[in-house]
Amino acid sequence: MTSPHHPIQIQEVSLQSIAQEFGTPVYVYDGEKIVNQIKSLQAAFATVPLKIKYATKALSNISILKLVKKTGEGIDAVSIEEVRIGMLAGFEASEIMYTPSGVNFKEVQEAVELGVMVNLDSISLMEDFGALYGGTVAACIRINPHIMAGGNAKISVGHSQSKFGISIQQLPEILDVVEKYKIKIVGLHIHTGSDILDAEVFLKGGNVLFEAAMSFPDLKFLDFGGGFKVAYKAGDPATDMEEVGTKVSAAFNEFCEKYGRKLELWIEPGKFLVSESGYLIVEATVVKNTPQLTFVGVDSGLNHLIRPMMYDAFHDVYNLSNPAGEPKPYHVVGYICETDTLAKDRMLASVSKGDLLVFKNAGAYGISMSSNYNSRLRPAEVLIWEGKAHLIRKREEFEDLIKNQVVIAI
Ligand code: PLP
Repeated sequence: MTSPHHPIQIQEVSLQSIAQEFGTPVYVYDGEKIVNQIKSLQAAFATVPLKIKYATKALSNISILKLVKKTGEGIDAVSIEEVRIGMLAGFEASEIMYTPSGVNFKEVQEAVELGVMVNLDSISLMEDFGALYGGTVAACIRINPHIMAGGNAKISVGHSQSKFGISIQQLPEILDVVEKYKIKIVGLHIHTGSDILDAEVFLKGGNVLFEAAMSFPDLKFLDFGGGFKVAYKAGDPATDMEEVGTKVSAAFNEFCEKYGRKLELWIEPGKFLVSESGYLIVEATVVKNTPQLTFVGVDSGLNHLIRPMMYDAFHDVYNLSNPAGEPKPYHVVGYICETDTLAKDRMLASVSKGDLLVFKNAGAYGISMSSNYNSRLRPAEVLIWEGKAHLIRKREEFEDLIKNQVVIAI
């Protein structure tokens, strides 16, 4: 018996059995869901030469990356460490796009030495890059399209006040630097933000790219970034990928005619690929009644899932142990010494100490944004693939926490 909204099993593996075998808290991912999301994007953009560059930052476990690799797609990496993790997962350098944000030039050099394409995100970086490599190393340019879009201010990154990319208004300057060093620009990139619902935003971004592209004769691709919204609860709107795919592809094909050559269309989804695949299973450690409220304390907190605190994100949560219990209102809170309310004022099937609760949409920016705050350990990760549960990251142990500390004699 599996409710589509509150699953008790994934690919016929029961979530209870995962908690029993691997303990709690534990992140669980449905590999099939990730592959299906990729397939749905491939179908939505079937009329263009599409390349998906999965945004590694969303969930960077090597086994998850191997799954993406198996589908024939590539990755976007935002740090040299993500580049290296991608290579460990089996990606060729040519399948990795490196999109740094104001990093030390040494990191850029390292990426170039590995053979990875760099997405240049400032005029200053273009200068350094051009001075060292001239026209010998192909590169991409991250344009800031001056578009305000995204679920909230923290994830709106393509507007005029954002630190990301090079302002589209600075195009003449960009062209001067390209000309000065004869830099070979093979791609233009935008990433406007996350949780973007409206197809028109992607079209608007596309128009900025199409116009700018006419000044770059050597292009091989245009990269539209990520930012597709998924549903966080029943009835929550999600980006209509069929609509985005159809409209953006049509505009892109029209642009290619004008450009005179067929280019590749790249996208960099993070959340869309992995958010809904992930579940965080926790245990209720205390049920605390106050004169006003009932809190459920769990063996996790903002150290494992920071999105509710960082972005006011809504993560649906349900009681796995007592699904038929009488619904009651709860605040689900973490064990961190901060106000880490993971789920506020939610109706949950009556919770008792020891019950397992499951947070949904935990695949994207869950473990990848986790920390050791309060000197707590990170949870284990389990991938369900081909009907079996596979441990893909061991739970941290106390030794992991202190291994880099250097204790001096005092
Ligand atoms: N590409 C870049 C450059 C990003 O910074 C991000 C995330 O912020 C993404 C793609 C993926 O965004 P999302 O997970 O919203 O699809």
